[in-house]
Amino acid sequence: MQKYEKLEKIGEGTYGTVFKAKNRETHEVVALKRVRLDDDDEGVPSSALREICLLKELKHKNIVRLHDVLHSEKKLTLVFEYCDQDLKKYFDSCNGEIDQDIVKSFMYQLLRGLAFCHSNNVLHRDLKPQNLLINKNGELKLADFGLARAFGIPVRFFSSEVVTLWYRPPDVLFGAKMYSTSIDMWSAGCIFAEMTNAGRPLFPGNDVEDQLKRIFKLLGTPTEESWPGISQLPEYKPFPMYHISTTWMQVVPKLNPKGRDLLQRLLICNPSGRMSAEEGMLHQYFSDLDPSIKLATDNSLILQGRS
Ligand code: ADP
Ligand code: MG
Repeated sequence: MQKYEKLEKIGEGTYGTVFKAKNRETHEVVALKRVRLDDDDEGVPSSALREICLLKELKHKNIVRLHDVLHSEKKLTLVFEYCDQDLKKYFDSCNGEIDQDIVKSFMYQLLRGLAFCHSNNVLHRDLKPQNLLINKNGELKLADFGLARAFGIPVRFFSSEVVTLWYRPPDVLFGAKMYSTSIDMWSAGCIFAEMTNAGRPLFPGNDVEDQLKRIFKLLGTPTEESWPGISQLPEYKPFPMYHISTTWMQVVPKLNPKGRDLLQRLLICNPSGRMSAEEGMLHQYFSDLDPSIKLATDNSLILQGRS
């Protein structure tokens, strides 16, 4: 810890407190995340520690870099690349207006980060606007990748605030335990809709039942036909067949038809029907994306070692 000079507190979240800090030698600014573990007496589980250390190898321009893992006396501090702000705060600064070209750029970068992690068999599982960090130059980076697997997603913050359900897919809400990359694609769809509406969440449910009800009222209630095996899910319960009364035009009025098509391919209740991140990047919606955003892709994006 001697290595870093703690500056101000940035925020509090799912796993603990985040501070801005400076490396005393290199003067590099970083974000320190002190992780609070449920079981403080036990110290840091070795399985969690192994998972976390693997995440240090996840190097991509659209992923918040994990520089270091500091482990001492039952305490765990993760040293992350520092970013200017999160997407939620960005929405707050937009006053309800967001440039649809920026939405397109952010969505592309979100899918590119996801495609990279998914190709390395790492899931996020807790994607939400607070976990999308952005820089002043318009870069978007995914934060907290892989932490959910290492630590589990707690039901409550340590501060007792309830963890949000808004970005959880129906399969997970019904208790599915077999997680796959499709979990993140649902969240990406919810975030896409929220971005085009300048920060108005798509499904702001209050509890699991309300969350599912909101989803089914927009997309229709899934059946054994549209989703074989749904009724076998651990926490499945039947819902009424809602009459769909809202159109996509009403839900995302600012989004063009190609964007609406992409959105609908992400927000599919049956997880096996959801589009992958790689497929999403190839969608027509991005055909007129600013080439400089696309160009910075692939090889050049994967940082080679620490700079
Ligand atoms: P959560 O993701 O559940 O909101 P976190 O503990 O991950 O909680 O982070 C709390 C807040 O700290 C975030 O909402 C974000 O605004 C900020 N933050 C987290 N990581 C970074 C980072 N690497 N750079 C800048 N700010 C960060
Ligand atoms: Mg976070």
